[in-house]
This record gives sequence, C-alpha cells and structure tokens, in this order.
Amino acid sequence: MALVLHNSLTRKKEPFQPLQPGKVRMYNCGPTVYGQAHIGNFRAFLFADVLRRWLESSGYDVTQVMNLTDVGHLREDDEADAGADRMELASAREQLDPWKIAEKYIALFFQDQRALGIKRAHHHPRATEYIAEMIAMIEVLIAKGHAYVVDTGDVYYDVQSFPAYGQLSGNTLEDLEVGARIEVNADKRDPRDFALWKTDAKHLMQWDSPWGRGFPGWHVECSAMSEALLGEQLDIHTGGEDNIFPHHECEIAQSEGAHGTTFVRTWLHTRFLQVDGGKMSKTLGNLYTVDELSEQGYPPAATRLLLLKGHYRQVLNFTFEGLAEATQTVAKLQRFARETVEAADGAAARPRGERAGWVESATRKFAEGMDDDLNVSVALDGLFSLLRETNRRGPTGAEAADALAALHDMDAVLGVLETAGELREVDLDAEVEALITARGAAREARDWARADAIRDELTALGIELLDGKDGVSWRRIGAST
Ligand code: AMP
Ligand code: ZN
Repeated sequence: MALVLHNSLTRKKEPFQPLQPGKVRMYNCGPTVYGQAHIGNFRAFLFADVLRRWLESSGYDVTQVMNLTDVGHLREDDEADAGADRMELASAREQLDPWKIAEKYIALFFQDQRALGIKRAHHHPRATEYIAEMIAMIEVLIAKGHAYVVDTGDVYYDVQSFPAYGQLSGNTLEDLEVGARIEVNADKRDPRDFALWKTDAKHLMQWDSPWGRGFPGWHVECSAMSEALLGEQLDIHTGGEDNIFPHHECEIAQSEGAHGTTFVRTWLHTRFLQVDGGKMSKTLGNLYTVDELSEQGYPPAATRLLLLKGHYRQVLNFTFEGLAEATQTVAKLQRFARETVEAADGAAARPRGERAGWVESATRKFAEGMDDDLNVSVALDGLFSLLRETNRRGPTGAEAADALAALHDMDAVLGVLETAGELREVDLDAEVEALITARGAAREARDWARADAIRDELTALGIELLDGKDGVSWRRIGAST
C-alpha cells in the first residue's frame, strides 16, 4: 500500500506523490509567539511531526519548515481588541519589549516541543528575519496587478484579481461578499481585500518599505518564507482548521498570484482539540500547557500519546481521564520494551519482511493505518497486537529481537517511548556495547590513550565499566546492579 492523504483543497483522499521523486517539501504553520503554546496548538505541531516521521520511515527525504510568527498576526474581527497585533498586546500585558516577548515565547516553544518529543524542523524561520523577502513579494504582486497601494501607504491584495479565491475554504466570492461586514475601512476596493503591508509609524515593530515604515500582514509572511526556504511549489502544507480561512486562502492567492504556478499540492488541516466540548484557546483561557500537565504528574509522553491517538481530521476532546489512561498505556509500553529487551538477550533481529509471522502482521497493520491518511488509531491496533501476541507467545532470542525491532520501527514514528526516555535506554545498550568492543580492540592494540578516551566517553554516558577476569561488564552509574 502506498500513502494516501486527504487534501483539504480537493476534499478527497489522494495518493501522495511528491513533485520530485523521493523528496518532500513540507511547510507547517507554526506558533504565534505572543504567549505559551497550549496543547491544542501542539496537536497541530505533533501531527506535522508524526507525518514527517512517517514520511521518513517510508523512505522520503523530507525538508520541513515551521515558521515562528513574531509580528503581524492581528486579532480577529470577532475578538476583543480586534485588529491589534498580538505581539503588541502581549508587550502591553507584560510590560516587555515585543522583541523580548518573542524571545521568551520562542524559548518556551522549543522547550515544550523538546519535552513532547517533536523533532526540530529543518528550518524555524522567524517572520521578522524575512521582511525583505516579503517586501519583494508584495512588489511583484503590485506589478502583476494583484495588489494596490492606498493613500495611507497600506498595501492590499485585490481579491477580485484572483478568481480562485475561496477555493480552499469553499467560500465563493459571492458568499464572502454577502457575509462581509459593512466595512469601516473605506480605502479598500473590496471589503474582502486583505492587507499585505500596514504602514504604521506607531507600531512597535516596524521596517522601511517603498510604501512607508510599517509591518507586513500575517498571510504574506508564510508565502514569502515558504518560497525562500522551499521554493515556489510545496508538496505539503499543514495547519490547524482555523488556518484554512482566511490564512491559507490568502497564502494561495499571494503565492499563485506572484508565481503563476500551483503553490501546494496537498493541504492538510488538523481539527481542533477541545476541552469539555468547547474550543481550547488562549483567548478563552481554558488552555493547558505541556509543562503544567507534567507538573501535575502526567508525563509529556502521555500527553503526546493522547494528542496523536485520535484521527487528525476529527475533533479531539481533552479530558483528564483520557490523560490518565494514556499515562498507564505509556507505562505498559515501557514495561513491554524492557521485558522484550531481556527476552531478546542480545540476539539480532531479522531484517524487515523476514521477521516472525505475528510481528510481520502487526507491522503491516501499523503501516496500513499510517498509509491511510495517518489513521493513527488503526496503526495503534497494530502496535497493541504486537504487544498482545508477543506476551501470549513469550518468545526469546531472535523472535523476541524481531518484536523489539518492530517496536523500535513503530516508535520511530509515534515517538512515545522515545519521549518517555525508554528507547534512548534501549539504544544506549547497543551504543555501550559498541563502545566496549571498540575499547577492547584499542587495548588489544595497546592503544591506551584511545582506550582511556573511550572509557571517558562511557562515563559521560553515565556508564561505569567493571573489568573482571571474565571480561568487561558495565552498569549505569548510581544503579545498584
Ligand atoms: P497560533 O499560535 O494561534 O498562530 O496557532 C498555531 C497553530 O495552532 C495553528 O496552526 C492553529 O490552527 C493551531 N491551533 C490553535 N488552537 C488549536 C486547537 N485548540 N486545537 C488544534 N490546533 C489549534
Ligand atoms: Zn502560516
């Protein structure tokens, strides 16, 4: 089976085919760094992480970009303080320079991301570092008749110049016209036009532009950064469901307006994480953060499992019962990993495709789920059948090693044991054995300096060597056995 993904643009599941065989260019809309990201935001980022891991495990060479929005993301029309820059609001709230606000929340984002076992994207561009690219893109849009400058120096995208506007969200121009509020902004040619550049000498973060000092619109940031880092065409673009309109609709209008080519082949959107049946959001104040849950005794690995368990195209309801259950599941997986390491007793696993029958069928089930539009719950059935069957059969040696290898492969995608620190320990065993062998070889060759260096390396890994007459054994420093 090959990977199929549900494309929000066509509203269909489609076989995934990257532009360039074997290579995937992926852009994920990242956090606005005006506050700490909550676990709802992380549902969207975790989806991107699992997708990347599955693509990599399927043999693709993935380049992943996740931006950091540190200017220009304004409050929506239906929120209090509508139209204000979120960074400026945070700056006023915390009595801190907006640049400091950005630094503070970017650091927290990376900290939470690491805790949740989300791989760092290959690039995490900050919007404020790509202002020149944004200005260049706006100039192209003006030159091509897709944008216009008004008296105040603001630049707007001319929605009527792009007939496909509305295709992603399903909003037709007529719908949008009827739905548009009575506009207070008389500068716009059409109430649906959106800002590419806001000229504002009072804005706390501002740059020179051909239209006056000001700042870019949020939508143009992602169009410019994705082009700068991935080129004019992307294989995959992701975001939360609220990004579909207006953010991604506007990105398409900008990128396709500027380049004249299809911007994104596959659009993927994560449905919201809810709390008690309602939206979890910074604005509503009913949010939980990764470290908060961790302080309450729920390990980040459990939060990770809970967030990735449901299908990304279905709303997920957060409950503490669910989190407690996930915590137990993580413990069960850890126990299984340890027991299987013991049962394998250093035996080598067979290559994929040649492993014990029940291991192969569990692996197939896992892949079947992942290939079907990242249906993680079906994939987890595969994982749990591996546990069940292995426990039932109680294999040892090579068969147990097969089960362990399959567990490793699955967790390379799910990242749950890895986040719990479990596979690192398992990996460490292999690493320690390799280093001990290398040290033995160095001693044979009377290369004492090298042998000592390897001992130091092992000490740094927390491993103590015990030279006995039957050879070398080792233990974790501080462990009793
Ligand atoms: P923001 O920091 O507001 O720019 O949001 C960052 C990402 O999180 C975007 O892709 C949003 O669509 C997504 N997001 C925001 N709230 C939620 C939620 N409750 N559940 C899932 N994703 C969300
Ligand atoms: Zn974006």
